[in-house]
Amino acid sequence: MSADQHRHVVAIDGPAAAGKSTVARMLAEGLHALLFDTGSLYRALTLASIRAGIEPGDELALVSLALRMDIDLAPPTIADGRLADVLLDGEDVTWLIRSPEVDAIVSKVSGHRKVRDALLVHQRRIAAAGPVVMVGRDIGTVVVPDAGVKIFLDASDVERARRRHAELQARGEQVSLDWVLDDIRRRDEIDSTRAVAPLRAAEDAVRVSTDGLTIDEVVDVLDGIVRAHWGGQSGLTA
Ligand code: C5P
Repeated sequence: MSADQHRHVVAIDGPAAAGKSTVARMLAEGLHALLFDTGSLYRALTLASIRAGIEPGDELALVSLALRMDIDLAPPTIADGRLADVLLDGEDVTWLIRSPEVDAIVSKVSGHRKVRDALLVHQRRIAAAGPVVMVGRDIGTVVVPDAGVKIFLDASDVERARRRHAELQARGEQVSLDWVLDDIRRRDEIDSTRAVAPLRAAEDAVRVSTDGLTIDEVVDVLDGIVRAHWGGQSGLTA
């Protein structure tokens, strides 16, 4: 794999509910790049495992399911705030994978090395296909370590919980702010202490804190970072 192969990848990593997906969508639109939210893969696998009655600790059954299932990410066909259509074996599961039930166990499912390996192949294939903004936890450290631009997006856990709570309420999910804050802290702990591909900023990532910034302000900051990396030329087509 040549060093230049992933020059057109913008890797955005960071903890749960740091605003990665929303700003990544706007950034990708401005850069005419594909948006690839890698959390969707882990979430779709988690939903499929719940349906199949597979325990989150059963690594081999999860791997076998990951290899069997057909996950597709496509540009949104419904204007209901979604970033992309997530299709699991042809079924639109875009919102089902964002339910509290999936939130509650997705970090357990994603903690298995073999599960991550099974999903890695798919992620690298998409990364090599062209200009793409990739969102996740380990994009800059593991999935695409030679990405042209690496950004680590963060915010305090309280701020992230407030945002996620508002998002869930807007979709009619009845959960308390305390539950969301606990869930975020628990996922931070699991994601950053797991043995395989833990959540951490790559050494050459630009760290951006979104506390107190509006979405537009964050997008402006990120756009400036990407353009600076591309020598001031407009977008990823340079
Ligand atoms: O980003 P999102 O909150 O949708 O991710 C859901 C979960 O998927 C995370 O809490 C994490 O456990 C896992 N994940 C991961 N690596 C990624 C993306 C997501 O482990 N690249």
